Amino acid sequence: MQHEISPNLPQPKRPLECPRCGHHLDGNADAAEARGEHAGVCTECGLPVVWASLRADAVSPKWFVESQHSSLWMPRRVIGTLVRCMRPFHFWRSINLATPISKRGAIAFLIGIALILHGVAVGQRFAFVIPACVARAQWSGSYATGQNAADLALAIIAPTTGFSGAKLLEFGELEITPKNRSLAWIRTTARFAVLAVYPMRTRFDFDTSQMPNWIRMNWAQLTPTAPRLMWPTQTPSTTAAISCVFLAPLSMFLLPTSLRQARIRPRHFARLLVYSTVLVVPILALSFALPHFGAMYGDWVLEVVTLYGYPNAGLILLVCTAVLVSIWMSAAAANYLRLRHALGVGVSCALMSLLLVILLQQWHFVM
Ligand SMILES: [Zn+2]
Repeated sequence: MQHEISPNLPQPKRPLECPRCGHHLDGNADAAEARGEHAGVCTECGLPVVWASLRADAVSPKWFVESQHSSLWMPRRVIGTLVRCMRPFHFWRSINLATPISKRGAIAFLIGIALILHGVAVGQRFAFVIPACVARAQWSGSYATGQNAADLALAIIAPTTGFSGAKLLEFGELEITPKNRSLAWIRTTARFAVLAVYPMRTRFDFDTSQMPNWIRMNWAQLTPTAPRLMWPTQTPSTTAAISCVFLAPLSMFLLPTSLRQARIRPRHFARLLVYSTVLVVPILALSFALPHFGAMYGDWVLEVVTLYGYPNAGLILLVCTAVLVSIWMSAAAANYLRLRHALGVGVSCALMSLLLVILLQQWHFVM
């Protein structure tokens, strides 16, 4: 085996590092290969290594966003990586521990996640807006077209805003006079653009001084009236579930036996955090979907049935999150970090982070 690895490589020899803990392994590799052994373990963390593959460049699959030698277009790689995340064990097995972090790839992946989350929010907004648009079209016929278009456009560009597109249009029309028609339309368009950038805005003022005296009110104000994407009681359990996703990789630090022995390099935690953002998509989608299927959010996350006798959506969300995070973390621990007792590591990380966020959120109930 050692004859295949030529000592006369043209480029200078780079130091051999353990991909998991970064310990220098040149001496160990040379000695082991001199004894004719092609594989061994890292003396620091116990990771099994094949010396030849340690000397070679890390190879990543071409669909992977961080792949260094992929000919695929970046958006295609983002989609490829996202699709593979649906099979966590397969996904984490495909990623080589030795692959250096690619900031460009990680940012592209996060942009992909942000776009999908936007799509989830638009879907939830449509669930409110489309029935209203259909009803309006039935009652007001062709007059409804503009208002429906405004509502749908606002749902797509700013799904989290509390403003209604139809109301913005209606109030914008108050400003129109025969002379300033195009200016008024520009102002209306600008208000939509403002909400696309800053959907949390809570007030718009309209200049009505051009109106006939008998309906003049000088300034009209518009405040949010459209249904919010989340119920007020939905927010605590949803933020708890999402925080759990990001706390789970960090809670690995609390597991002394698996980690102090493994001495995992920080870059592996960074990678775990980046790809864990994918879990926010099913969690947010489930959080939005549950009330449409007869569940209801209660004030207290840990009750099974809410005040009005409906199943507690908050509890269902947190249980599903715990299962999802356990599977994801177990897959990463087993197939990427290659830790022993990976299932135990995954389940403990999920439960620890979940308990932590519930305690942090509900401490005023507990105290
Ligand atoms: Zn090591």
